Amino acid sequence: MQARATSKAAGIPGVKHVIAVASGKGGVGKSTTSCNLALGFAAMGLKAGILDADIYGPSQPRLFGLRGKPRQIGPRMLEPMERFGVKVMSIGFLVEEDNAMIWRGAMVISAITQMLREVAWGDLDVLVIDLPPGTGDAQLTMAQQVPLSGAVIVSTPQDLALIDARRGIAMFQKVNIPILGVIENMSSFCCPTCNHVTPIFGHGGARLEAERRGIPYLGEIPLDIKIRETSDEGRPVVATEPDGVHARQFVEIARAIW
Ligand code: ADP
Repeated sequence: MQARATSKAAGIPGVKHVIAVASGKGGVGKSTTSCNLALGFAAMGLKAGILDADIYGPSQPRLFGLRGKPRQIGPRMLEPMERFGVKVMSIGFLVEEDNAMIWRGAMVISAITQMLREVAWGDLDVLVIDLPPGTGDAQLTMAQQVPLSGAVIVSTPQDLALIDARRGIAMFQKVNIPILGVIENMSSFCCPTCNHVTPIFGHGGARLEAERRGIPYLGEIPLDIKIRETSDEGRPVVATEPDGVHARQFVEIARAIW
C-alpha cells in the first residue's frame, strides 16, 4: 500500500492493513462495493478479508453466499468463514439482525473490536471493514478505536448522498484517518436493450467533490441490473465474472487504493 496510508494495524496479529469502507447514508452500495473490493484485492494476489460491521443490515453473508455460524477454535477465538479466497466475518453470523439494530454505540464498538481481535484472521495483507452507514457517534468512535490504515467513501452522485458523504469525509479527517478516496456508485444507467446511458442519479458529482477537497477520486461503478442480481445470488461479479466489465472496474479501483 502506498505511503499515504501507514499501517496502524499492528495490534491485529498478521493483519497488515485495515481499510474502512464508509458512506454517509444507507443504500448507496457500500456493502456491494466492500465485497467486490475485497475480492478485487484477492484478484490482485493479496491475502484479503472482510469484516461486516454494518449492524443496520449486515449484507456480506448474502453477498458471499454464506450461511451458518463461524466455528469456535479456542475459548475466545472464532474461525472466519471463507469464500472465493476471501476470509469473511459478519455481525450477521453472530446475532439476529433485529437484536443488533437496537444496540447502543458502546455495544457496537465492543462487537467490532471482538470481531477484529477474537477472530483468527491469520496472515492478511488487507482487511476491509464494511462500516455501518452514517456519521454518528458509533462511527466516530469506531474510526478512532479501530486501527485503520485509511477510509474509502462510497457515494451516489445525488446531492443528498454527497452531502452525507461530505460529513463522512469530515469525520475521518477530524480523527486524522487518511481518506484513500471516493467511489461513485450507481453512476449512470446503461440500458441493456438499447445501450442508451441515463444518469439516473446525476453523474460526476463524486468526482467534483473529491477534486474540490483534494481527495483521490477512485472511479465509478454504473447502476447495472447484473450487479444487483449477482449480489442477491451470492455470486459477486469480481469472483464469478472476472473478465466482465464491472469486475474490471472494481479491480481497477482496488489497484488505485493499493
Ligand atoms: P449499502 O451497503 O450502502 O446499504 P448495498 O450495497 O446493500 O448498499 O446496496 C443496496 C442495493 O443496491 C442492493 O440491492 C444492491 O444489490 C444494489 N446495488 C448496489 N450497487 C449497485 C449497482 N452499481 N448497480 C445495481 N445495483 C446496485
